Amino acid sequence: MRVINSADRMSSLAESVRKKGKKIGFVPTMGYLHEGHLSLVRRARKDADIVAVSIYVNPTQFGPKEDFKRYPRDLKRDLSLCRRENVDFVFVPSSEQIYPEGFSTYVNVEGLSESLCGAKRPGHFKGVATIVNKLFCIVKPDIAYFGQKDAQQAMIIKRMVLDLDMNIKVKVLPIVREPDGLAMSSRNKYLSLDERKRALVLFRSLQKAGDMIKSGESNPRIIVNKMRDLIKKQRPTKIDYISLVDTKELKPVKKIKGEVLVAVAVYFGRTRLIDNIKLKV
Ligand code: AMP
Repeated sequence: MRVINSADRMSSLAESVRKKGKKIGFVPTMGYLHEGHLSLVRRARKDADIVAVSIYVNPTQFGPKEDFKRYPRDLKRDLSLCRRENVDFVFVPSSEQIYPEGFSTYVNVEGLSESLCGAKRPGHFKGVATIVNKLFCIVKPDIAYFGQKDAQQAMIIKRMVLDLDMNIKVKVLPIVREPDGLAMSSRNKYLSLDERKRALVLFRSLQKAGDMIKSGESNPRIIVNKMRDLIKKQRPTKIDYISLVDTKELKPVKKIKGEVLVAVAVYFGRTRLIDNIKLKV
């Protein structure tokens, strides 16, 4: 396994791998790896000849009052997990490499970036699309892997790849959960024991939505109200959103039919957690 800090070096390694006709599978991450990340790495290992993982906490996707500075980092542990999964390249750039002085080009995926987390975290998806675009230029993957955990992000990346003719296959893999249902996330580390217990309500509320839809409820307002009641009982610090949206444009649905994404963002303490479930009627 090679750990690469320089963007030029990463780029030329990728170039030479591709020249040999080998396929690069790429997993972009912000590190503090868990089983969710590793599920993507394992899939890449199956599909591709060369597996590249990037570890970079991207400052441009954090708002000024968000957790960029305290975002959990443990490079040593991340590298040993990558080694165990037979990763070939781990790209760990510095911010000087990624955003050198004078940097002024950003990618904005309109429409899809405006609802759900986009509405609550202005500029977040502009930062995400920009860094993923840059990482794609440097790592030159044939296939890139994203988690359904960040459903909106995955759709935005797919849109960007299509719109900018990037010739990269984007694969989106299921949410990996703890045995008790909590969606794995690097941010779970912030939770106190009590907050973590209360946070289980997120998945429970999504399951409740699923049950209601299965038993014929087609009014999203009734489902959102029920979910809000459930979540409130667990004394969240703040509910950012509880939304039922369509899976093409991520716009709120008026009546449930076809496929819907039920998505929640809730704070417990200072920790903002997201979760979602895709349901078909
Ligand atoms: P992050 O390090 O949080 O930026 O995540 C890197 C990638 O891992 C993204 O594509 C995430 O959607 C994905 N990911 C994070 N958590 C999970 C999870 N619990 N299950 C599946 N994929 C995940």
